[in-house]
Amino acid sequence: MESRIDRIKKQLHSASYKLTPQREATVRVLLEHEEDHLSAEDVYLLVKEKSPEIGLATVYRTLELLTELKVVDKINFGDGVSRYDLRQEGAAHFHHHLVCIECGAVDEIKDDLLGDVEKIVERDWNFKIKDHRLTFHGICWRCHEKQKEKKEDEDRD
Ligand SMILES: [Zn+2]
Ligand SMILES: [Zn+2]
Ligand SMILES: [Zn+2]
Repeated sequence: MESRIDRIKKQLHSASYKLTPQREATVRVLLEHEEDHLSAEDVYLLVKEKSPEIGLATVYRTLELLTELKVVDKINFGDGVSRYDLRQEGAAHFHHHLVCIECGAVDEIKDDLLGDVEKIVERDWNFKIKDHRLTFHGICWRCHEKQKEKKEDEDRD
């Protein structure tokens, strides 16, 4: 975690920003909740636990700055709430999401998988792809297992 913070610090420095204690507290919360897709308010409540003096506006500005510097990506899963997602180090493009319509779980696919699609888009539309957002909506493996168990129970009765 410390080396990751160091690298984020360097990223800020190279854009002439400092990693102030408030910014660092925000970054730490994002790192501790890397796969949680937190909203600005979620981040704020978690930052506040350790740094009660920080206000929502400061957290919000920090998140906007981190978005601008591509440390995080902002994503919306269709519920109108912006969520902040740490960008994978070294990844050229944003990872994909699997959103379960039954339980609301969000899983991530870290492999890009879109190489062939990207080639077609670049060729047929003469479009240089810089990034993409891909969200699948469906039923997750946990819900499948629950359904299976339920069915097995019913079959036994
Ligand atoms: Zn994600
Ligand atoms: Zn890609
Ligand atoms: Zn589910």
